Amino acid sequence: MKLTVAVIGAGIVGVSCAEHLRRAGCAVTLIERGTAGGATSSGNAGILAACGVIPVATPGIIGKIPRLVLGPHQPVFVRAAQVPRLLPWALRYLRNASAGRVETIAAALAPLVTGTVAEHRALAAGSGAEELLRESDYVYLYPGRKDAEGEDWNWRLRARHAITADFLDRNALTKADAALGPRYRLGRRLGGHGYLLDPEEYVRRIADFFCQNGGEFLRAEVARLRPGDAKVTAAWPGGEKKFDRAVVACGIWSQKFAAQLGHKTMMQSERGYHLDFHGASHVPPHPYMLADTKAVLTPMAWGVRAAGLVEFAGLSAKPNPRAFRLLARAVREIYPDFTYDRHVEWMGHRPSTPDSLPFIGALPAHPQVLFAFGHQHLGLTMGPKTGRIIAALVCGGEAPCDLRPYRAGRFD
Ligand SMILES: Cc1cc2nc3c(=O)[nH]c(=O)nc-3n(C[C@H](O)[C@H](O)[C@H](O)COP(=O)(O)OP(=O)(O)OC[C@H]3O[C@@H](n4cnc5c(N)ncnc54)[C@H](O)[C@@H]3O)c2cc1C
Repeated sequence: MKLTVAVIGAGIVGVSCAEHLRRAGCAVTLIERGTAGGATSSGNAGILAACGVIPVATPGIIGKIPRLVLGPHQPVFVRAAQVPRLLPWALRYLRNASAGRVETIAAALAPLVTGTVAEHRALAAGSGAEELLRESDYVYLYPGRKDAEGEDWNWRLRARHAITADFLDRNALTKADAALGPRYRLGRRLGGHGYLLDPEEYVRRIADFFCQNGGEFLRAEVARLRPGDAKVTAAWPGGEKKFDRAVVACGIWSQKFAAQLGHKTMMQSERGYHLDFHGASHVPPHPYMLADTKAVLTPMAWGVRAAGLVEFAGLSAKPNPRAFRLLARAVREIYPDFTYDRHVEWMGHRPSTPDSLPFIGALPAHPQVLFAFGHQHLGLTMGPKTGRIIAALVCGGEAPCDLRPYRAGRFD
């Protein structure tokens, strides 16, 4: 008899879990209220960030807050009404910015981001999604040496995880990209990275492959998970079904299930934005991270995507027009002569914990329920590895790394 498993949520994390579980021999039902890859996983910058061991909050962040929130390139927006709800998360988040904590967090992120391109290749193999994956360099752009030196601590920590980047002077930058505007004078180039030409289509193709090979896709909004007698019942309006295991992979919306099961997640939505430019006059030769604006410019199937920024405004507030203006300005600063046919605006919700680590693993009190959410800025990067870990846990295999840093209940 095959183990029956419900995976709730079909973003990159849920689809990765579902496909790895299917390959491991489980009878998997992927339950999604919308479309596969249609939520946060659709609008990200598409970077397979093998360098992503450094959380956003690093030593010295408190001194940088005024510039991050008020400066001309401010990448962070906070809505005043959100402050009381944000405060407990923010205090804990800032406590995690000490050198010691960041080093511990980096060590816990490393096994999830290292080898991400190979993990994606293995997951996508045969689905057609692999056609949307590109291996490439990833280049951080700095206005000047002082800005680059401000991140020396981060680069030294990355180097301790064997992530190294060479320096590019202005000549080397313009040799690779002649249209680059005068603002950026220094770069750091990381090899061994990758990006996706269309993140939503990529997830959809893997979900289709999962269905073509025996996986079941159920369109429903799960309202409750009820663990009992070693099984777990998933209930939705008009139906319910008992499974041997259930995996919660609903990104930011996972909080409701955690609360039902007696766990705090302390997650906040770090809202992020993108502008897609169709018919763009300039397409970068590889993705750029603008170190000042914290925006990413990625070549896409239709042209270019500029993505990034962080806004704390909850789940229901409308998108902030200032964010789109800032992204548009960032693009003009890279390419002063930039033109395009049309653009599309998007906002989505990064599921972020105060320690920048996801929840991955079985619940101590209900081992038939597993968590797979909270992947903050790096869910696309960490999704396939998370799926591999979940499949190992469900099928009695060996987890590929120490799972204690990702345990449910660490904020209870
Ligand atoms: C602007 C921006 C740029 C980013 N850039 C990158 C990047 O370059 N690289 C990277 O690695 N990461 C990046 N990220 C982060 C990444 O996009 C997220 O971490 C990732 O998409 C989270 O995936 P997920 O599967 O956990 O959640 P989601 O993609 O949000 O999927 C959750 C799914 O659960 C479904 N769901 C919710 N509740 C229920 C329910 N009750 N019943 C059924 N279904 C339900 C939702 O409909 C949704 O489809 C970026 C994020 C943003 C916002």
